[in-house]
Amino acid sequence: MTRLDGGEETAESAVSPNGPRAVLLESREVPLGGIRAMEVHRLLPQRDLPMVGAWCFLDRFGPQRTVMRVEPHPHIGLQTVTWPLEGDVHHRDVLGNDVLVRRGALNLMTSGAGISHSEYSVGEDATPLDALQLWVALPESRRHGIPAFEQHESLPTFTLDDAEVIVVMGELAGTTSPATAHTPIVGAEVTFVDSGKTTLPLHPEWEYAIVGVFGDAEVDASDGERTTVSSGLLLYLGVGRTEIDIASSVGGVFFLLGGEPFDDEIVMWWNFVGRTHEEIVAARDEWESQSPRFGHVPGHGEERVPAPPLPHVRLTRRVRRL
Ligand code: MN
Repeated sequence: MTRLDGGEETAESAVSPNGPRAVLLESREVPLGGIRAMEVHRLLPQRDLPMVGAWCFLDRFGPQRTVMRVEPHPHIGLQTVTWPLEGDVHHRDVLGNDVLVRRGALNLMTSGAGISHSEYSVGEDATPLDALQLWVALPESRRHGIPAFEQHESLPTFTLDDAEVIVVMGELAGTTSPATAHTPIVGAEVTFVDSGKTTLPLHPEWEYAIVGVFGDAEVDASDGERTTVSSGLLLYLGVGRTEIDIASSVGGVFFLLGGEPFDDEIVMWWNFVGRTHEEIVAARDEWESQSPRFGHVPGHGEERVPAPPLPHVRLTRRVRRL
């Protein structure tokens, strides 16, 4: 097992380009939301790990008491996956959707070429809030298309050994989420109500990671050597595995991410996923000029999140170095 603390160390480059891995990565704290500070822990992208399958971004909001006010802002080239752990998130978008997403339900927004939306907590006062927000990079065939929005309040669940599994996106153990996915992928919440163990079947050609949410997960990722994956940690498993053994001594919740390694190298900046520097610059200009590409979110006035200044260097594609 390799441990990278805060992204400060350089991964060994002598490893084979593909194969199983057991690399534990830590979240970093990110300021978000303008005036009101929110506690956000970012697990993806990492400097040496831009993606896991098509998953290219993962933030954990909380657990905390806060007022969430993420004003209208744009996205291109991705799907946003909002998975509340506690508290409700009020979503409004340019398509006219105005919904609450609750614990157990999935909000899935597909930007295609461009969309804008806002995300608030409910009410004016600080409220308990904890959620995962993930992004899925769209493949070439879908990323220039029209925006779309889905909410799924009933997701497939099953019991596997001592674990309860909810398939949020994609497919695990032959069970498939109804949410629209554009590449072979999985996002699943796995819960040990008490101590126990399970063996998850994996596709050897997919890469996977395990994200700690609550409690502990002991993952047997390198021939009997167990790695503890608790909150704020992501264990990258690489490809080439047919299964993974996971146990918990006190109960716990973790999130399994996986998918076919993404074909394209992406350029990611702010809320945009593209393939070139120029695409990102164009999207930024269109948001700043209030172009119809992103439209106006009904229910909002002039409030919007301004794009940050571009860096003084060209945006470059990110590659996996683990
Ligand atoms: Mn967003």
